[in-house]
Amino acid sequence: MNPSKKAYRAAILHSVGDPAEVGIDASYEYFADGLMLVENGKIVALGHATELLNTLGHDVEVTEYKDALITPGFIDTHIHLPQTGMVGSYGERLLDWLNTYTFPCEKQFADPAHAAEVADIFLKELLRNGTTTALVFGSVHKESVEAFFQAAEKLNLRMIAGKVMMDRNAPDYLTDTAESGYADSKALIERWHGKGRLHYAVTPRFAPTSTPEQLTLAGQLLTEYPDVYMQTHISENVEEVQWVKALFPERSGYLDVYDHFKLLGERSVFAHGVHLCDSECARLAETGSAIAFCPTSNLFLGSGLFNLPMAEKHRVNVGVGTDVGGGTSFSILQTLNEAYKVMQMQGAKLSPFKSLYLATLGGARALRLDDRIGSLQVGNEADFLVLDYHATPLLSYRLKQARDIAEILFVLMTLGDDRTVLETYSAGELVHSR
Ligand SMILES: [Zn+2]
Repeated sequence: MNPSKKAYRAAILHSVGDPAEVGIDASYEYFADGLMLVENGKIVALGHATELLNTLGHDVEVTEYKDALITPGFIDTHIHLPQTGMVGSYGERLLDWLNTYTFPCEKQFADPAHAAEVADIFLKELLRNGTTTALVFGSVHKESVEAFFQAAEKLNLRMIAGKVMMDRNAPDYLTDTAESGYADSKALIERWHGKGRLHYAVTPRFAPTSTPEQLTLAGQLLTEYPDVYMQTHISENVEEVQWVKALFPERSGYLDVYDHFKLLGERSVFAHGVHLCDSECARLAETGSAIAFCPTSNLFLGSGLFNLPMAEKHRVNVGVGTDVGGGTSFSILQTLNEAYKVMQMQGAKLSPFKSLYLATLGGARALRLDDRIGSLQVGNEADFLVLDYHATPLLSYRLKQARDIAEILFVLMTLGDDRTVLETYSAGELVHSR
């Protein structure tokens, strides 16, 4: 057997375009009996099994999955590592929730041993749920991101993370200063950005917790390192939007605060955007900035309903985010289940192919990684999943009634969760098996 080459035979589905731009039928490629050939961590062939099997050498091992669907690995464009231990905390909306639950939980990450323990749990949870790439907030402590990158590097995962910058309006035990936030971020960039499959994201938590001095230095880091990412929160909650207006009266709106400090751009991802207006969406599109749509979080914290059609109208890049621990599940399938309901509540439909796009290629485009991940195109890194049609008795019974791949996909997204993910592969290596 040739160990560098492996073939996988199953039903195979991936997105090739945004349904909002190319129409649903042209947005995906589906092989009912498909074959994908992987060599040295990359996809080297994809097509119908009957056509490709003849072209394989006898030395290639073929793994077959019956009643299962291969898709690209999921991409979570917004999640918090240090909130793993407080997911599902009762009774508050954003600002009280931060003070009551989030900040005390994040405090523990000053301890490198605690950070390492949680990084391990967090990565296992991502992989169990089929998430192969995530854009991750650490805590204010550089140790949190150090621990995360060390764990992700061992598994050769494509991950992006950053240390939170937060120098005001938070407890003393959880603040940096404009200068130390800059210096710690810079040290992490130098040490980790571009190492293996890892990337750094400059991470001001949100406008209310950074002084103008800190936001200026965050913008300076993006100028000094043009290929690092920027992640922050925007317009999640009505009281938060009013607070930003009070803190920055000279700016025309919430997005304009970030714009003023030069934080918009092609590698900038803004979480939530529930209360953005038309002109803010237009500005996001113009600068190539992206939005992370976080439906379970927006419902759990009572933040509001994200207007996906408005983002589509302006052609803003959108990915989905679990936003654990404001979000209530690491599962992208469950996140898409809630995304569908958020659209229903606004009288809009979310096609399962659009959902697949948001969770894979759309996320990759938001992160400017679509030349490497997000689809199963030949040449891409072999980050993929195997979804099991018999994961639960109900799923198994329900899928027997399904007529086509659209229905199968929608049922997987509605009834599926971590149990549905049979196997997860990253760069061609098995990193999770149920
Ligand atoms: Zn968040």
